[in-house]
Amino acid sequence: MKHILILTGLVAAFLASPVHAHGSVGKAGPNGGRILKKGEPHAEFFVTPDKKVRITFLNAEDKPMTQENAQITLTGGDRANPTKLTFTKDGDSYVSDKPLPEGNNLPVVIQIKATADGKTVTEKFGANLATCGECKHPEYACTCDHAE
Ligand SMILES: [Zn+2]
Repeated sequence: MKHILILTGLVAAFLASPVHAHGSVGKAGPNGGRILKKGEPHAEFFVTPDKKVRITFLNAEDKPMTQENAQITLTGGDRANPTKLTFTKDGDSYVSDKPLPEGNNLPVVIQIKATADGKTVTEKFGANLATCGECKHPEYACTCDHAE
């Protein structure tokens, strides 16, 4: 009896661990990017294949929505010689005028003013472009527990 209880416990622990690692975690944005949650509305940070940054505003269900007159700037890369990107509206999103500077794990600072009379919200994180081996998202949008 004792033996069975131990075995049951081991199986339960084994089953619980991988599920837990991917359960109750953040989710990626509609394009597979990182959801920026500091401001309202939320916005998705996504790096396009040509390394431009696409910012898409999201509604309460984290679906893309049109947001007029947002002001967005991104500063990234080498602290001594940072690259500044500005954004223009493209469909439902805002796309940077230039690609991100070289490097696969750039520190970036994004400042978003979603509405003309809103306040500017600043988000800072590492734009790690490597692909996560677990969730297959880019690391900057990784939805695994270890990301945050
Ligand atoms: Zn991941």
